[in-house]
Amino acid sequence: MGHETMRILVVEDDKDLNRQLSEALEEAGYVVDRAFDGDEGHFLGDTEPYDAVILDIGLPQKDGISVLEEWRSADRVMPVLILTARDRWSDKVAGIDAGADDYVAKPFHVEEVLARVRALIRRAAGHASSEISCGPLRLDTRGAKATVNGVALKLTSHEFRLLSYLLHHMDKVVSRTELVEHMYDQDFDRDSNTIEVFVGRLRRKLGVDMIETIRGLGYRIQAPGDGS
Ligand code: CA
Repeated sequence: MGHETMRILVVEDDKDLNRQLSEALEEAGYVVDRAFDGDEGHFLGDTEPYDAVILDIGLPQKDGISVLEEWRSADRVMPVLILTARDRWSDKVAGIDAGADDYVAKPFHVEEVLARVRALIRRAAGHASSEISCGPLRLDTRGAKATVNGVALKLTSHEFRLLSYLLHHMDKVVSRTELVEHMYDQDFDRDSNTIEVFVGRLRRKLGVDMIETIRGLGYRIQAPGDGS
């Protein structure tokens, strides 16, 4: 895809790392805004339109998780990639629960971050154009919107993608491996445990019992009336 003035926010208090990321993004053709603490980052993400955000978790003044939670509760749905400390599994889960779309653990290669950002933007843009219904659930794949009984759901791009994939494969058991392959770039060796986290979050947001766990095999959404 081209770089039609895609705008990225980098929130990272480590000045060298911030500059390294920002310069690499600029070289790749993005417009980049920089913030060096949680307050500044939160303000920018709350008021400016970004195509993606790179957000460090450990930030002065306001930590990255709080920043992200506040954005999401204010309906700021831009894709967010969080930067976590190495081996801090709890940070990853907290970040995903707060609405992160992806994460990279430090130390990382800048190229990896760039690839993830490209993937996030690509997914957020979406291509499909159809509406799928299943019982009370309705998915508008073009507008990337989902409703349950007419009430709009606040879904992150990953949650939407997961739900969309299950609905596109209605009545079929979809394995975690298949979901991982679908949700992440194939170049990356991703942990399928994150899928459980996404499914759990999606279930809570749906509020209706639609996603079945098929033990040892994966997940399934059944069309109404089936299997009765
Ligand atoms: Ca930091």
